[in-house]
Amino acid sequence: MPSTKPLILWFRKDLRLDDHAALATAADEGRRVIPVYIREPAEAGTGPLGAAQAWWLHHSLAALARSLEAIGSRLTLRSGPAGRVLDQLIDETGAASVYWNRRYDPPGIAIDKAIKARLTEDGLVIRTFAGQILHEPTRLTTGAGTNFRVYTPFWKALESSGEPREPAPAPTSLISPPFWPDSEPLDSWALLPTKPNWAAEFSEIWQPGEAGALERLDTFIENGLTGYRSLRDFPARPNTSMLSPHLALGEISPARIWHATRGLAGRFASEDIIHFRKEVVWRDFSYHLLFHFPDLKSKNWNSKFDAFPWRSAPDLLKKWQRGETGYPIVDAGMRQLWRHGYMHNRVRMIAASFLIKDLMIDWREGERWFRDTLVDADPASNAASWQWVAGSGADASPFFRIFNPITQGEKFDVEGHYIRTFVPELKDMPDAFIHRPFEAPLLVLKEAGVILGETYPNPIVDHKRARDEALAALQGLKGE
Ligand code: FAD
Repeated sequence: MPSTKPLILWFRKDLRLDDHAALATAADEGRRVIPVYIREPAEAGTGPLGAAQAWWLHHSLAALARSLEAIGSRLTLRSGPAGRVLDQLIDETGAASVYWNRRYDPPGIAIDKAIKARLTEDGLVIRTFAGQILHEPTRLTTGAGTNFRVYTPFWKALESSGEPREPAPAPTSLISPPFWPDSEPLDSWALLPTKPNWAAEFSEIWQPGEAGALERLDTFIENGLTGYRSLRDFPARPNTSMLSPHLALGEISPARIWHATRGLAGRFASEDIIHFRKEVVWRDFSYHLLFHFPDLKSKNWNSKFDAFPWRSAPDLLKKWQRGETGYPIVDAGMRQLWRHGYMHNRVRMIAASFLIKDLMIDWREGERWFRDTLVDADPASNAASWQWVAGSGADASPFFRIFNPITQGEKFDVEGHYIRTFVPELKDMPDAFIHRPFEAPLLVLKEAGVILGETYPNPIVDHKRARDEALAALQGLKGE
């Protein structure tokens, strides 16, 4: 006989019904389920969410509430420290159990451990489940039993450790508790920007929520997976999945994505399928790194970089943030970020390299800006990727590999379609000069309606000189 006392199902970064191990188990056990989302205070260390992701969260919670209603249930929203909120809910409802899917960010782990220990002592049944990543960070180890620092052996270990678990289907109904606890109104959380509403374009691009995530996956398989391996680097092409914000708040599970690509072998080239899976596994690798190096977002993995002579240059930082560097591919990326809360991966690497190496501004400034402006901001992938570009991370791109923003643009945005979309003042520049307007003859600029320094900025640094300075700074570190 299942317990008749209610069970609190604590949703966190797993805002879905599909492949939700905690929810599926509660439903299978025939429990009376109270689904809850807790807005934890910033001081808890799990937040605050960046402004762009707060926009996403609002819509995602609204979508989750609708999905729960469709199966006869309801989402309760509460804010406050998680332990305190759970205590109150247990008092109010007489709940005897709390189930959740595990999270892997260091503050989240600490909070969950403390809550689990205390509530277990109080006699409640606490059950936690895997699901946020393909394999839990402690499951894969090197032959020597240590954690991984290099991606390729991590991938090989993951690949040879068998298929990730089968996704659990979404429950079709949930049993209600005898009465529902009060819920705070979602609007009272003020997650949406108002004055100004800088997220106006977001809803043209994104459909937050589980249905949007599953639709995005289908669209990508139909229109983007063919050629993924070679075309994923071209920002104007539809060859990346754009699933990252859905994954960041757990609207789709990585196991669901993995298994969706399983039956495709006859229809798609295996190199495309494998490469796509490898990218999804970069996310797991980032969590593996974060788990074993909890200071990933604040400390250089490689402490040699602690002595790097970062520049304090607030004006240059602001120009980078606004997409006014005078290097069109960097500016297009930074403006895509502002307009859509997203930036294509190749351009993230170029823009990050520009901040760190051309401007010699500390990668942590970039990490912070991305955290606030990306709808897919993720504590593991963001920190690991910034350290990767900076050369300070585990398995990082060496610092001396400095992207040239002009040739990168010419290689990956050959006809400048991406630039013309996000830097409209350059839309009439001929292909030959769209990546280097500062080298265009006056007549060409005039015909394109561009006045350098007025309609579009002059470069804020000279790339060749900046590169030499960055390399000299690196040399200084080596000489220590
Ligand atoms: P796809 O090519 O379709 O890849 C599928 C999925 O694999 C992605 O959705 C993502 O979950 C995962 N993935 C792909 N590349 C990476 C990667 N390098 N590291 C970790 N996971 C990856 N990704 C985030 O999800 N959140 C971040 O905050 C974030 N910050 C970044 C900061 C910098 C400086 C850089 C260079 C990269 C960052 N990335 C981040 C990684 C990557 O750029 C995005 O995951 C990717 O662009 C998302 O687009 P997509 O879903 O179309 O990717």
